Amino acid sequence: MFDSIFSAITDIYVAAQSSVYEWVLQPVAFHLRSGGLMEDGYEASGWLVAGFFQVIVMVLVLAPMERLNPVEPVVDKKAVSTDILYTVIHRLGLFRLFFFFLVEPYFDDLFGWLHTQGLGTFQLDDLLPGITDIGWVSFVIYLIVFDFLGYWVHRAQHQWNIWWALHAVHHSQRQMTLWSDDRNHLLDDVLHSCLFALLALLVGIEPTQYVVLVALTKLSESFQHSNLKISFGRFGEYIWVSPRFHRLHHAVGKGHEFESGLLGGHNFAILLPIWDVIFGTALFEDRYTQTGIRDQVEGGVDYGEGFWSQQLLGLKRLAKAFSARAVQ
Ligand SMILES: [Zn+2]
Ligand SMILES: [Zn+2]
Repeated sequence: MFDSIFSAITDIYVAAQSSVYEWVLQPVAFHLRSGGLMEDGYEASGWLVAGFFQVIVMVLVLAPMERLNPVEPVVDKKAVSTDILYTVIHRLGLFRLFFFFLVEPYFDDLFGWLHTQGLGTFQLDDLLPGITDIGWVSFVIYLIVFDFLGYWVHRAQHQWNIWWALHAVHHSQRQMTLWSDDRNHLLDDVLHSCLFALLALLVGIEPTQYVVLVALTKLSESFQHSNLKISFGRFGEYIWVSPRFHRLHHAVGKGHEFESGLLGGHNFAILLPIWDVIFGTALFEDRYTQTGIRDQVEGGVDYGEGFWSQQLLGLKRLAKAFSARAVQ
């Protein structure tokens, strides 16, 4: 049954992808007389379709849910509109297309070069022959592999001051809503996407599956950031990251900051809380606390209000973190 549901979803997705390609990207590529764009356009269409699908679910499902059972009233509408801008940049193409056409091609070259040096990849089908024939089984394995990387990347974003200088953009949101997931420094996004695209090539995930995997992850992340008083119950909280679980990660002075002189923090998992349980960082308290960064809430440190000021202040923090490192 799983397989038929999985292939039905894949069929709908591929049909939508073909239409976008045929009606939008192919005419553009033809007009620009760009053969390269024509070749990659089909895959790029998939990212656009997945992005539109996410925004539709966010507006039609998550937004009404937020109105029904919010954690707190939305008092800072400007902060929310900045987050909407981040979402539009991210999910409706701009960032993805930039990444797809300008960054990713270098990875293909890199992997080609590695191959000539005798270094192979870890294709799932080589390790477990025949496994990729069953769509949903390979999908679940890839999901676990990518989520494991996600957990450690997120821990590194907090562990290293240099990376935290950028990730702080995400945590400076004191009015968390369904739009807050994409509020990140663009440099952080590029880094993040590079690491995941490299893993995708390394394990040999099929492009359509990769797009669906990223779309599902992003949609779940939007749900987790929602201004929504929801937890998954005693057992469910161990299975999938809930809005309550992720809000605890954003809690001031608790979820993500220095504790007793050590870099601590809780609930770094992206989809599967099991990583936090295994590595001792899980926090399952039943509460919904204030979100933000301690020095911002208590000391008035400015992390910027609009898109450009947030990006610029992020670069300044990064330069400061680098120079502090050089002094040490
Ligand atoms: Zn974080
Ligand atoms: Zn978050």
